[in-house]
Amino acid sequence: MRTRDWDDEADDAPLGGTRERERALKEVRAVYRQADAAYAPYSCPASGECCQLAVTKRQPWLWQPEWELLSRGRPLPPPRADGGCPYLDATGLRCSVYADRPFGCRTFFCQRIQGPSRQPAETVATLLERLERVSQRVAPSLKAPRPLLDWHAEAWRAATKA
Ligand code: SF4
Repeated sequence: MRTRDWDDEADDAPLGGTRERERALKEVRAVYRQADAAYAPYSCPASGECCQLAVTKRQPWLWQPEWELLSRGRPLPPPRADGGCPYLDATGLRCSVYADRPFGCRTFFCQRIQGPSRQPAETVATLLERLERVSQRVAPSLKAPRPLLDWHAEAWRAATKA
């Protein structure tokens, strides 16, 4: 359920303001590093097919600090005509924000994944809880993560309404 808008940050009165937000982003990066470590034994063909969100009908869901990490300090790309993730590069094959890609992108693999048979589900669950706690600190009115395309569409509307 949507409970807040991206533009409503001021209403959340973040604890400690900018400092708290920076701390939150740092913690998100730490969570991402742990997710990467958990999936280090795995590999995939890196085809970019999983980023064709309109085709897969699946997309990453982001907590607020994840969206902030993804969107802050870089131009907002336009929506893609093919319904793919706006953060795909021009070829539609590569992520243009790889270092800051969301948790869901780091932990999503299709049936072509190669590696240990048992995926690190417990680690993923623990890290997800941590992401939620971080988000609750800086955006307490957001009760659930939101799909990447929702975050993007909202930001795109705000950026282009002038
Ligand atoms: S953020 Fe990057 S990895 Fe995630 S769906 Fe978009 S292009 Fe793919």
